[in-house]
Amino acid sequence: MYDVIVIGAGPAGCTAAKTLAENGYKVLLAEKLKMPRYKSCSGQLIQKSLHLVKRYFNEEVPASVTCAPAENRGMIFTNDKGRVFSFEQPGLNVWRSSFDQWLADKAAESGAEIRDGTAAVSCVEQETSVAVAFHGKETGIQETKYVLDCEGVVGAFKKKLVKGTPQYITTYQTFNKGKIDLDYHYFYAYLQPELSQYDAWMNVKDNLLVLGVSVQEPGKIPVFYDRFIAYMKEKHNLQIDEQLKTDRWLMPHIRPGCAIDYGRGRILFAGEIAGFLNPMGEGISAGMESGYCAAKAVMECFDNPDLVYDNYKQSTEPLLTYMQRQWSFVAGIADTFKEMK
Ligand SMILES: Cc1cc2nc3c(=O)[nH]c(=O)nc-3n(C[C@H](O)[C@H](O)[C@H](O)COP(=O)(O)OP(=O)(O)OC[C@H]3O[C@@H](n4cnc5c(N)ncnc54)[C@H](O)[C@@H]3O)c2cc1C
Repeated sequence: MYDVIVIGAGPAGCTAAKTLAENGYKVLLAEKLKMPRYKSCSGQLIQKSLHLVKRYFNEEVPASVTCAPAENRGMIFTNDKGRVFSFEQPGLNVWRSSFDQWLADKAAESGAEIRDGTAAVSCVEQETSVAVAFHGKETGIQETKYVLDCEGVVGAFKKKLVKGTPQYITTYQTFNKGKIDLDYHYFYAYLQPELSQYDAWMNVKDNLLVLGVSVQEPGKIPVFYDRFIAYMKEKHNLQIDEQLKTDRWLMPHIRPGCAIDYGRGRILFAGEIAGFLNPMGEGISAGMESGYCAAKAVMECFDNPDLVYDNYKQSTEPLLTYMQRQWSFVAGIADTFKEMK
């Protein structure tokens, strides 16, 4: 019998598992993919993410997980009218596979048991525990007092518990050899509706130019991507010598009000699967913060499961308010997001 089973070894799950394990709880952190696993991400650790790593993991982010240029100096947004907004702040540029592996290693050092290649597929809530079924390297059923579901955007496990059709944004990005007349230390976002149905972006990782677009209609990726490349060629002298890799992913489509799904009974949701995400490069920080709050709620109410949900909801209130403010801020600079005001 585990005290807590944490599903998903991303920033939310690793922070939750580390927090619980270092406080003496018996924790299983299950990751469906073989680790280190790939996660499509720009890998910008903003200042808030760096502070949270220090607070929850008691260490600085190591140089071994960064990519060149390691230093990220901020974000530069171009709004729907072509106006440029620069947000300077010191951050880091990391590969997510390495960063998340490092987080998982820290959780393991604190005593969490890690099982990769093992997907949580379903669960049955019993009177005083939850039985979780796993499939993969280790197939079978494990009992636990609580489940923290931190499985990220798609949420196959959550879909078995909660009815409804989630809405997604599809992201598409390419990794290219080439050059561009932009400072490689910044993350660039373009909010013009002709370039994407959400945002388009450019950043640099180990001297590869990463160019991406996100859309609500996946069939329109080629149209928007071609337009974005043409725009970057014209405005910033983009030159692509060779395309090495592409990836496609999903993000939750956050709606006005930023509804959060905190969980059911002994099962709490944290990170993206709960709906924590904001547009200023804050998926990682929102994941870590909500993962921490979920772990804290379980620890504080371990023998009173009826109180866990409210405790978690209350402790994430500042995060939710901040997230709503950030969405509203972006809506203020670009009409593309006006519904989020
Ligand atoms: C293109 C793109 C660029 C982004 N850029 C940035 C950025 O620069 N900075 C930033 O802060 N955020 C960024 N984000 C957002 C950020 O990546 C996410 O918000 C963040 O990873 C969410 O963390 P999480 O722990 O909730 O989920 P994830 O990081 O997705 O981790 C969830 C884990 O759960 C595992 N899993 C899923 N289902 C199961 C299951 N059934 N059983 C076991 N394991 C399971 C998955 O394999 C995964 O490892 C970006 C997102 C995208 C798509």
